[in-house]
Amino acid sequence: MVNGKCTVCNCPWTTHMHITYENKRIVRTVIDDNVQKMISEKKNNYELISALIDNCDCLIKELKVEQDLITQISAKFANFTRQNAIAVFNDDLEDYLEHLIREEKEKRSKGSQNTSVIEGLESMKNSYKEQQRIFDQAIQNNEPCDVVELSQIPELVRQLYSLKHNGEQLRRIARNVYIIYLLFISVSGTQWNYGNLGPDIWSEYYPSCDGQSQSPINILTACTVYKDFKPFTFISTHDEKHYFTLKNNGHTIIGTINNEYKQSPIQLTGGGLNGTFEFVNFHLHWGENYKSGSEHQVNGVKYAGEIHFVYQNPVTSQMAVLGMFMQSYLHKKRFVFDKNDLTRDEWHRYFDTAKTLTSENDSILFDSNVTLLMGENLQDFWRYEGSLTTPPCTEGIIWTVFKRPIIFMEEEFKHLRDNVYFEDYRGPQPLFNRTVYRNFYSEKLSSIPDYNRCLLDFQYEKAMNIISLFGVINCTARSFFFFLLVIYFILLFILFVVFRKMRYSVERKKNE
Ligand SMILES: [Zn+2]
Ligand SMILES: [Zn+2]
Repeated sequence: MVNGKCTVCNCPWTTHMHITYENKRIVRTVIDDNVQKMISEKKNNYELISALIDNCDCLIKELKVEQDLITQISAKFANFTRQNAIAVFNDDLEDYLEHLIREEKEKRSKGSQNTSVIEGLESMKNSYKEQQRIFDQAIQNNEPCDVVELSQIPELVRQLYSLKHNGEQLRRIARNVYIIYLLFISVSGTQWNYGNLGPDIWSEYYPSCDGQSQSPINILTACTVYKDFKPFTFISTHDEKHYFTLKNNGHTIIGTINNEYKQSPIQLTGGGLNGTFEFVNFHLHWGENYKSGSEHQVNGVKYAGEIHFVYQNPVTSQMAVLGMFMQSYLHKKRFVFDKNDLTRDEWHRYFDTAKTLTSENDSILFDSNVTLLMGENLQDFWRYEGSLTTPPCTEGIIWTVFKRPIIFMEEEFKHLRDNVYFEDYRGPQPLFNRTVYRNFYSEKLSSIPDYNRCLLDFQYEKAMNIISLFGVINCTARSFFFFLLVIYFILLFILFVVFRKMRYSVERKKNE
């Protein structure tokens, strides 16, 4: 400021003033939360997507491996059925794949982008066919290593079930298929019968029949072990009429339910079984006369026949068979039937219907009440773990054999013998390490001493235990006796010493 004037513009100071700004450059890092969030989300998304893609790739690889394995095993199964001629060969998987391809092609014609799906299916079909071709060649060239043996089947099944992605679903499918398979096995018999291909040689085609847990058995009543089982309980619809198909399958008359419902109306629980069991079939076993025919025996005694009610737990696939003895008398006079016996009436109707099945594969509709067929004597039973009594003799089946038989008439068996086969029972199998339980407390001894031997063994064991217990007492007694002896001698010695002392003191007093 010179003479009241601005040094910058020479104007009088009063008129204005200057303000000077200096621009300094300051670098500050500001983190905006929202922006940060947006960025990280993007990054996360990216990572997520790339992870997903990786995962997908991995999944695709895994599924591809599974698909190959399933294709391979399916081919093996198909060849097993073909080799063993269980039925007319029917290539289900190939048909199924063709059906899928047709469907996808139809979709494509309607504008669907599914070329890759079709390609995938076609390559699967081709690899399946290739597998088949290899097997065919193996069969033709008789290369045993490539031919599928029955004993390999469980391992193949296990492989399928343990698949990470499809295992559970396959297991579910198999559960249904298994029932069908069992029905099928019991319906269509080729490699076995009760004659020239009888029970003694079943194991040649069905190795399980040689197992250590086979059915039936001879129940030695003296050897059974008492166990408290809950009684069987049946759902209300068990005690209603249902439609069954009775079929003469060349081995027996088998009754399967014509079930239009999703859930079986014939279910049971209890009886020491785990979970709910659904009815699968019922069928009979009989012999050529009234003193043979039951599969199970009680102290070596056979009944005229045996009824099997087959059940399965749909959740665990566990099978359980309820077996009932059929008793028959040669002379009607020996047994007077109760006129109000509903079970008797129901079976009478059964035989009237079944006798029309005069040749193999004949079948007929039969409406019946399973509760009535079973009768009322379900209190006392024996329980053990066994097998199917017909090939494939699958083990792991829970058996319940009811003590009280149902009474039949001898002429009723005649139609079965004439129309199906003169007899269809398997003899008792060795028990090996199994225990037979009974749910009733007291059990009578057999009049045949041989069958009570296990009881004698048991008593002998008990007696030996008691003797050895005496041994312990004896031993203690001996040492106690010895102890007493020692005490006695010590006392004797003390007495002797005391007596001598006394004598001395007496003599001394005398001398004084
Ligand atoms: Zn100025
Ligand atoms: Zn049976």
